[in-house]
Amino acid sequence: QEQEPIIQQRIQQAVDEVKTKSSEDKQKVLMDASRQLREALKEANAQSNSKENCWNCGRKATETCSGCSKARYCGTYCQHKDWDRH
Ligand SMILES: [Zn+2]
Ligand SMILES: [Zn+2]
Repeated sequence: QEQEPIIQQRIQQAVDEVKTKSSEDKQKVLMDASRQLREALKEANAQSNSKENCWNCGRKATETCSGCSKARYCGTYCQHKDWDRH
């Protein structure tokens, strides 16, 4: 999974932030961190659903459907596999 390192980076950032804050601030920082984490996950999801990715398997797309010029696929295999659905 390509997006995993990004999420782990965000988690590490959040953890580091909590460590540097005083105990009074920790509750607030933890809430901020979990919100940031949710946003990072949302971003990662949006990325994996991006039209730039293969509509069949979700990998990085390199080809566009010759029929509709909209659907994107990583190769002819996925393009043919998805033929009925779009
Ligand atoms: Zn594919
Ligand atoms: Zn098409």
